[in-house]
Amino acid sequence: MTNTEQDRWSRVKGRLRSSVGEDVYSSWFARMDLESLQQESVHLSVPTRFLKSWIQTHYADRVLSCWQAEMPEVHRIDLTVRSAARCAAPVRDTHAAPAEPRRDDQPRAAVQDMSRSTASPAPASTNHDALGGSPLDPRLTFASFVIGRSNTLAHAAAKQVAEGRHGDPVMFNPLYIHSGVGLGKTHLLQAVTWAGNSSPDRKVLYLTAEKFMYGFVAALKSQTSLAFKEALRGIDVLVIDDLQFLQGKTTQAEFCHTLNALIDAGRQVVIAADRPPSDLESLDERVRSRLAGGLVVEMGQLSEDLRLGILKSRVTAARAHHASFDVPQPVLEYLARSITHNGRDLEGAINRLLAHSKLNAQPVTLEMAEREVRDLIRPQEPKRIKIEDIQRVVARQYNVSRADLLSSRRTANVVRPRQVAMYLAKTLTLRSLPEIGRRFGGRDHTTVLHAVRKIEGLVAKDTTLSDEVELLKRQLQE
Ligand code: ADP
Ligand code: MG
Repeated sequence: MTNTEQDRWSRVKGRLRSSVGEDVYSSWFARMDLESLQQESVHLSVPTRFLKSWIQTHYADRVLSCWQAEMPEVHRIDLTVRSAARCAAPVRDTHAAPAEPRRDDQPRAAVQDMSRSTASPAPASTNHDALGGSPLDPRLTFASFVIGRSNTLAHAAAKQVAEGRHGDPVMFNPLYIHSGVGLGKTHLLQAVTWAGNSSPDRKVLYLTAEKFMYGFVAALKSQTSLAFKEALRGIDVLVIDDLQFLQGKTTQAEFCHTLNALIDAGRQVVIAADRPPSDLESLDERVRSRLAGGLVVEMGQLSEDLRLGILKSRVTAARAHHASFDVPQPVLEYLARSITHNGRDLEGAINRLLAHSKLNAQPVTLEMAEREVRDLIRPQEPKRIKIEDIQRVVARQYNVSRADLLSSRRTANVVRPRQVAMYLAKTLTLRSLPEIGRRFGGRDHTTVLHAVRKIEGLVAKDTTLSDEVELLKRQLQE
């Protein structure tokens, strides 16, 4: 890539950014790269199939016109998925997806019994009903889910899954959503389940990891484990919440089989957990890599706008049953500003205001709100940023592994992210240069100093890089 080409690409990105706005830009285009530039055609790449298809359906014209504004001769945009070196091919479990269920004597007997009693082989759907999902909360639907910068991608992916029809090809599998607590994972997963189950020919099963564990263990005890497995295989979409709670060797082995069987059969799997697949330490390496082989999306902290939106949506929901309940705008703004940590506290705040105003037959005021939610408000302390967080966020943004950042590899695609990470470590933490050097695979402090100076110099003149650095800082400080 020549410098002129890079400059043009920077300018096109700038146009794109101002044309679609910062939020959309950072959700969909931040990881788009220029691969090559011919006379009339431009070759761009993105890291996932999902991004590719989303950009193609929603933004193809926009991307083209931004190029044409810069280079009128461009007539075609080729968008491809670049292969990420770190993303190993999905690993197949050797026990996976047996065409026939394994021959365990006792479970077989159980199935035979069942088929005898129904006079014909039990169809999967009978078993499915017997399986029983975890209870769903009727309020957790797409209609009540508020979209903001931190969840746009997760929402779009969930929506895509929910709108799939029986027999449709699956675009990304599994869909893996992770975030801290109270940021909307369960809401999104249940929304997928509600939406899917409203279509008659589709079976969506929502299970918490605990339900999976106890359902499975119980099924084993009652010797119907085969029926249980069969039932699982009879569904179109399996949704598993809070995967971090999945424990125990047998359960994990079974989870692994189920996952492989479903994915290989083209069924959709959706998973939520409080951490990325690579951090699920208790899970087998093969399962982790299978999980990482689909679309992994993180949901970030709720921004103030998003918090305000969630509060409003909660008030609207409450008003369906309590028509006289009303929360004035200044109170909503106060709550959105002060309850910063998670969606559960927002929900709790509205519940308290509702209870209070009902019990005392009083309208909601700012004073009352301050009193009622005092304990939900945590003191604002600036977030302490850890070097590991910096390495994780930088690695993700540049599509390299954290190990690459710490390694001694000197290829360009690793050197720059490593320098950026060191620069951020120096500017966002109080760590000394030698300490940072140690944390980056035992490098010398002069290496760190060099990296810091280098990035300082580049940021001053390279707008793309300075935007990238800004974006990283924002992600880390949120
Ligand atoms: P998690 O499963 O990630 O811990 P939940 O899905 O249980 O979080 O969300 C906690 C609360 O916050 C729920 O009441 C949920 O409805 C609400 N919430 C979180 N994100 C959103 C959102 N984007 N729109 C509407 N409500 C939300
Ligand atoms: Mg949850």
